[in-house]
Amino acid sequence: MKMQLGEIATAVSAQNETTMWTEIEVSSVAFDSRQLTPGALFVPLAGERDGHEFIEQAMANGAVATFWKADRGPAPTDYPVLVVDDPLTALQELSRHYLLKINPKVVAITGSNGKTTTKDMVAAILATRFNVTKTQDNFNNEIGVPVTILAMEPNTEILVIELGMDRPGQLDFLSKLVSPDLAIITMIGEAHIEFFGTRGKIADAKMEITHGLKEDGLFVFDGDEPLLQERATAVEQRQMTFGRQTADEMVATEVQTTETATTFKTNQWPDQLFELPMIGDYNVNNALAALCVAQAYRISASDAAQAFLDMNLTKNRAEWVDGAAGERILSDVYNSNPTAVKEVMAAFSQVDVAGTRRVVLGDMLELGAQADALHASLASAFDPQLIQAVYLVGPHMKALYDELLKQYPETALHLYQTDELATLTAQLQTDMTSADAVLIKGSHGIHLETVLAELKA
Ligand code: ATP
Ligand code: MG
Repeated sequence: MKMQLGEIATAVSAQNETTMWTEIEVSSVAFDSRQLTPGALFVPLAGERDGHEFIEQAMANGAVATFWKADRGPAPTDYPVLVVDDPLTALQELSRHYLLKINPKVVAITGSNGKTTTKDMVAAILATRFNVTKTQDNFNNEIGVPVTILAMEPNTEILVIELGMDRPGQLDFLSKLVSPDLAIITMIGEAHIEFFGTRGKIADAKMEITHGLKEDGLFVFDGDEPLLQERATAVEQRQMTFGRQTADEMVATEVQTTETATTFKTNQWPDQLFELPMIGDYNVNNALAALCVAQAYRISASDAAQAFLDMNLTKNRAEWVDGAAGERILSDVYNSNPTAVKEVMAAFSQVDVAGTRRVVLGDMLELGAQADALHASLASAFDPQLIQAVYLVGPHMKALYDELLKQYPETALHLYQTDELATLTAQLQTDMTSADAVLIKGSHGIHLETVLAELKA
């Protein structure tokens, strides 16, 4: 972003006299006084410590101005200050102002799983014809969305933005902040069910992404999800569904998976073969959502297919790495929930392996009162013909352990359960041979990346 402080003061309705600073050039926003680029506007946010304590440091490190929360009393006078009711709200107002000024088309993406992957796919496809800015990392909340907007180059034609959601009302707010031209719901899963209680309530909250959808906008969603189908009837804007059923508008056919790639065709472009350089049948759904966007923006099927091959993934979620013993490890340690585990297990079960397929699962967090039942429900994803050894870590995975013990005789499935990552690592190192393949998945809070690091070392 490039704005003068006078423009910013007006956009956030600064309450103090700022005319003497009008022409100061601001080139970015920053929250961390240790990591800012000179020319930044400092935004003091409430965290473990109040950001206002770090204003002096931010100014010393090159910030050119700062917000100041009005109820903290008189603002400092020895550097440029914009007094506002609330710095976070001011940041959001500023981002809204900048969005309207640059005025790109906006593609907004939510869903229980697949947001980041779909975002990367959509951005890759649109970048074949347009100047695109996309969400970096996982900046998808009330802070990350404004940051993404403010990071747009002035020549941005399309903004592809991930919107996260962990409570009702959040997407209502974010959707109205970005006013999408195209809104996508990738799927409804069980993430955050702790707070919602039912999948229906999760669907209600996801539907809020349509609240800010422009009148002539397009709503794209998983047509195989009845919870979305029911709710979509209340949406007045144009709609397009994707999925595997013939009633969907963008349907995948001839899906084939290998260890590192997934290919499919579609009803829309029957002659075009699409290849995704990633494992997992579920990624076909993310790709179908992205192809709906391709069609809406008149990108050709062959350009879209090439974009899939060339795309930059924010974080390759399910990624093959080599273990120290020569075994192959499918690492997916940043996020976990029941749907995602079942999907990635299905993909892993198809992998060719000379030795043993081993699965390491860590607790899935934020599942609330239903946590044990949801962990136990994963038992249905196991086929001892395909997966011969299972390592479970964390208190909730004990529920799956008990369930698997009940369903399978000891001889059918090698089962191991612990609460300690160190003992888990040691057990894996004892059991594994170079001919094996290992899937590792768990919520980020379980820190299976430390096990992965040991296995790679
Ligand atoms: P986060 O909530 O962490 O931002 P996200 O919605 O951005 O997650 P991704 O980062 O794209 O999701 O994918 C995370 C994991 O979710 C993947 O590794 C995979 O296990 C699973 N996943 C991705 N897409 C789908 C899908 N369409 N259906 C089911 N599971 C999926
Ligand atoms: Mg994400």
